[in-house]
Amino acid sequence: MSTIQTIKRPIIISGPCSAETEEQMMQTAQDLKMTGKVNILRAGIWKPRTRPNSFEGVGEVGLEWLINAGIETGLPVITEVANTKHVEAALKAGLKMLWIGARTTVNPFAVQEIADALKGTGVEILVKNPINPDLNLWIGAIERFKNAGLAEVHAIHRGFSAVKSKTYRNEPMWEIPLALKQEFPKINLICDPSHITGKRDLLQAVSQKAMDLIYDGLMIESHIDPDNAWSDAQQQITPKVLDNLLGSLILRSENTDDKEVYKNLTELRSSIDNIDSEINELIAKRMAVATEIGNYKKEHNITILQPNRWEEIQKKQLSLGLELGLSTKFIHKYLEAIHQESIRHQTAVMNK
Ligand code: PEP
Ligand code: MN
Repeated sequence: MSTIQTIKRPIIISGPCSAETEEQMMQTAQDLKMTGKVNILRAGIWKPRTRPNSFEGVGEVGLEWLINAGIETGLPVITEVANTKHVEAALKAGLKMLWIGARTTVNPFAVQEIADALKGTGVEILVKNPINPDLNLWIGAIERFKNAGLAEVHAIHRGFSAVKSKTYRNEPMWEIPLALKQEFPKINLICDPSHITGKRDLLQAVSQKAMDLIYDGLMIESHIDPDNAWSDAQQQITPKVLDNLLGSLILRSENTDDKEVYKNLTELRSSIDNIDSEINELIAKRMAVATEIGNYKKEHNITILQPNRWEEIQKKQLSLGLELGLSTKFIHKYLEAIHQESIRHQTAVMNK
């Protein structure tokens, strides 16, 4: 059986952003092993950096350090490959698990070349999301590996850098990985809070959120001396801090055997279902009025859009929504959706 399928949830992958020296690799691995909570050892050997002339990884020699650290601790090991040369070297060194980085997933040509180079190897692949929030690009990369005959292809959510974010290094946009899981229900979905947050103090909250969204595991960067790490220093934590973080996570289960809890939950859910039906009916009613307005505007040669009126609606509903405890972002989002749909209804009658 594959490695990943034998691990009980949560699958914990940890290790340094980059292998730096033989000692750093070995010490990190041993400290991680001591926690008793880490299942797979990671290290970047070739680092895809945004700008040249920064540390770009130690290269092939690091593969040997990683393999040795794996043998010493008994942990399976994983590294990133970004081209066929990396694949060749990694296979030669004996790696059985590889991940595809966000900057590679964006490029179908690169993904296809790597997939071709892995045909028949039985290597386990974890595909990070592309840097831009394009679900199909992520799905496409996973399909390319599956089509190459690889049975174990899984996904890592590391956030999206194409979107400016105040809080995160890479905006999580949770709806995208959740849609991926819907497309591939059997896939193991791993969250990478290190690259999502870019900073230590947010790791715990993002990890807990991933657990509450039924992610299968976490990939968290760990370094024996994080402040002096050669890459991603601000987001790495010591194995000890990782141990505490993992110990603090609450693992809630998806379902319950408790009949009383189940009954109460079912009642609450049926209220939600009723409210959803009411919302649907109300929206349909609103659209019927929009159509009537469309007809009336057509008769009197008035445009569909009146910016002032739209602004007035937004202002009024924003203030009401805020009073009712809704968030600004949500109010804007749903009003926008309703407005678009109204325009669609009015356009339909206008051009009949
Ligand atoms: C990494 O995991 O070290 C890495 C480079 O990740 P990403 O591809 O998510 O940037
Ligand atoms: Mn990193």
